[in-house]
Amino acid sequence: MSDPRRTIPSVDSLLASPDFAPLLARYPRGRVLEAARGAVAEVREAVGRGEAAVDLTTAAHYALAAGRALEAGEVPSLRSVINATGVVLHTNLGRAPLATAAVDAMIAAARDYTNLEYDLDAGERGSRYVHCASLLCELTGAEAALVVNNAAGALVLALNALARGAGVVVSRGELVEIGGGFRIPEILERSGARLVEVGATNRTRLRDYEAALKDASVRAILKVHRSNFRITGFTEEASLEDLAGLALERGVPLLHDLGSGLMIDAADLGLTGEPRPHDALAAGADLVTFSGDKLLGGPQAGILLGRAALIAELRANPLCRALRVDKVGLAGLEATLRLYRDPARAREEIPTLRMLGAPLAELSVRAGRLGTALTAAGVPCSVVDAAGAVGGGTFPEVELPSKAVEVRGVGADALARALRDGRPPVVGRIVEDRLWLDVRTVLPGQEDDLVRRVQEALRQVSSD
Ligand SMILES: *Cc1c(COP(=O)(O)O)cnc(C)c1O
Repeated sequence: MSDPRRTIPSVDSLLASPDFAPLLARYPRGRVLEAARGAVAEVREAVGRGEAAVDLTTAAHYALAAGRALEAGEVPSLRSVINATGVVLHTNLGRAPLATAAVDAMIAAARDYTNLEYDLDAGERGSRYVHCASLLCELTGAEAALVVNNAAGALVLALNALARGAGVVVSRGELVEIGGGFRIPEILERSGARLVEVGATNRTRLRDYEAALKDASVRAILKVHRSNFRITGFTEEASLEDLAGLALERGVPLLHDLGSGLMIDAADLGLTGEPRPHDALAAGADLVTFSGDKLLGGPQAGILLGRAALIAELRANPLCRALRVDKVGLAGLEATLRLYRDPARAREEIPTLRMLGAPLAELSVRAGRLGTALTAAGVPCSVVDAAGAVGGGTFPEVELPSKAVEVRGVGADALARALRDGRPPVVGRIVEDRLWLDVRTVLPGQEDDLVRRVQEALRQVSSD
């Protein structure tokens, strides 16, 4: 018997066949050629393994396989996912989803020319750094403000501009790793400053800082908010007020890396202990840094607030250019900040705050509705009590009482994998070998997609 592989059509003849015409109309010829080659190679290998193949001469078979490969290649690498983890500021899922006002502003800035660096009054070159500055000062009482690409960059810039070649005092209890390999000692070193550690992991007193500042080469104090862990037990730390007094007396700046940028009263959300930028400034910090996309609920950005003379030095530093924020982020940040002029409106319209503040009664209703829709779609499930988290390295000890739908009937790992695999991908949470879909972080309008995806995933796992 002759080798059946000899009946496989040539790639050229496949491309000339009517079955490939729709693909050639839709995709560039080179991509179709590549996909046709792949389809042919797959069939060749299957035959080589002795697997029974379809009619090898049918072009439609190759066109189908090539079409699937081409379509898979069109799925963007970065895409929307449904967050059913209950973790509001999930760094791996892109932190804060934005308010409609921010999204609208970002679309306009992306699509159009803007006055990014153009002074419309004077008709000449302006500065991108004016755009959020007055709003930030109005909201926080800061003298001056500067926005850069992210908070890690903001800290590098501040240290480089104010303490390059000099010592910076930091408590041993605050030499933290924030995530993504961002460690305070390493960042300090990279920014050209020298770390001067004081105190012990659990206790650092004002006099530890005083002693370190006797060395004239020490030119700044850095306080780092322990946003992602807590030290409890036999502990002590110098207050921001005390450090501010010392910094003033010695004529060195006090920098405070706050991390998350909470702009409203956290008690309104049932969260406590998170310092706000304006509290830190009022307590005497000369410069504070925080993220745009943590508790502030805006786009990725690094925000610096503080004394005008210090901000001016930062703006004049070459690193500021390297860390500059783009027009789209700036537009989204400005629109987000504007919502804070009315804190009630901010809580309502900024998704991060709305999700954090969602009352349990509302979550119960939403979980009930999701459970009913899933049951109607043939998915065995029940509503359970869940505990979500704030996320983004904030409020490590806070559990957000929430409601989830537990999907039953198949193994949780297989189901989770199938959920991640479709469009849109769904990321749930596995708790004691059961898959939970926490409704707190499911955005309005995503429920139908979620039900369809769970139904699909369950069917896929059951048939495997
Ligand atoms: C998150 C965090 C940062 C880094 O912020 P990015 O916006 O991710 O760059 C810096 N410092 C603290 C204390 C943080 O919590």
